[in-house]
Amino acid sequence: MRRPLLLEDKAALAGWREHMDAEGLQVGFVPTMGKLHEGHLALMRLALSDPDCDRLLVSIYVNPTQFRPGEDFAGYPRQLEADLDLLAELGVAACFAPSDETIYPAGDSTRVSVEWGRGKLCDVSRPGHFDGVVAVVARLFNLIRPRLAVFGQKDAQQALILRRLVRDLHFPLRLRLGPTVRESDGLAMSSRNAYLDHGRREQATALFRALEDCRRALQAGERDPSILAETGRAALAEEPGLELEYFAVVDPDTLEPPERVPESGKLLVACAARLGDARLIDNHVFSIGEDGIHETLLF
Ligand code: AMP
Repeated sequence: MRRPLLLEDKAALAGWREHMDAEGLQVGFVPTMGKLHEGHLALMRLALSDPDCDRLLVSIYVNPTQFRPGEDFAGYPRQLEADLDLLAELGVAACFAPSDETIYPAGDSTRVSVEWGRGKLCDVSRPGHFDGVVAVVARLFNLIRPRLAVFGQKDAQQALILRRLVRDLHFPLRLRLGPTVRESDGLAMSSRNAYLDHGRREQATALFRALEDCRRALQAGERDPSILAETGRAALAEEPGLELEYFAVVDPDTLEPPERVPESGKLLVACAARLGDARLIDNHVFSIGEDGIHETLLF
């Protein structure tokens, strides 16, 4: 298949975008930081199958503003050529791989931030991270003007924050989520899994196992969120060298634990842990109703 058109600056992107308008084609968008894996590719297939996407644009950009000092910005894996080959196989029309100056023009001084979610889950250990995420996503939305944008539920808090960004700033697009794609042993796929050596790669499945323990307790009838969270924490405590950041059972509307698991509604079970150089996150989202308890999408 043909490689996607590589667009590296604002003028090239604008030219392609005008061409889409002239042809009456709707643009679908999947933002990534590259080092593409099956999780990214599944989001792209979802976008390509969506009626709001006539042509798919994928961005590959390691956004400096979402990394905190001391985080892995410099070492984040980058492999544009290999990524372009993967995009070609899928039939992606264009790849936007901008420079920092393209995204953040010299003197850039306009801030976008979302208050919702502050002090919760990942924001505790990565304060400012989500401000960097909304900074880049808002700029990308304005540059690309997609009709559809697809994100992964693996980053659940990010997805919930972006839903508010789109609503509050009236971005004329539809957000769609894709489910978390996992390795055969349950580990959620992530570009950062490249940081795991053999031993740690095995240990990393502990997050999925803890989420599954929590699911079993829920399906067995446990309705106390603190006991459910303890179940997950206990599973993770068995793994030496794994430093738990949080294991939380929360209402996805508030990111706070409900008093009791609701009789109908959604429940987000999310966790984050450090393992050597890697910071791992994972979650399950359950819908609870008369027909039982099932994994579902946040929206
Ligand atoms: P990243 O390149 O890690 O910034 O991720 C780009 C997009 O892919 C985000 O919307 C992520 O939520 C999504 N994503 C990352 N890993 C997975 C996965 N294992 N399954 C589904 N989506 C994912």
